Amino acid sequence: MSAKRGRRSIPLTLARSLRLRCPACGRATIVERPFQIKHHCPACRALFKREEGFFVGAIVANVLTTELVVLATYFALIALASAHFDLLLAILLAVAVLFPVAFYHHSWSLWLGADYVIESLPVYTERGRVVEDGDDRARGNGRGESKP
Ligand SMILES: [Zn+2]
Repeated sequence: MSAKRGRRSIPLTLARSLRLRCPACGRATIVERPFQIKHHCPACRALFKREEGFFVGAIVANVLTTELVVLATYFALIALASAHFDLLLAILLAVAVLFPVAFYHHSWSLWLGADYVIESLPVYTERGRVVEDGDDRARGNGRGESKP
């Protein structure tokens, strides 16, 4: 639609998301510490912690990806099914338990990236206000400085 939308490149955002970087600027990680996502980007102030319910999408992304990985593991090991069915079940259980834990940060990151591509991320301001669609108003000067 506008030039602003054109700058939100899907491949660039996906690459940033896979590296757990801010989908808007790529200059900072989204992870505060293990299993803790930052409130906002320290470089461009893009808000990561959105309203209640926003990250149901991240949970859904994690669950769906886990189901796909369990299914792929099953098909990769289907030769085990006739001789070692118990072993196959144990492997699938381990994948089903461990994968969503290992994928936790990436599910958040990919969900944030998808939201950024679709509608941009709001910008968190000093006073705690949130500026919706703050692509150029508060973030986009390239130095990570906040402009009024
Ligand atoms: Zn950023």
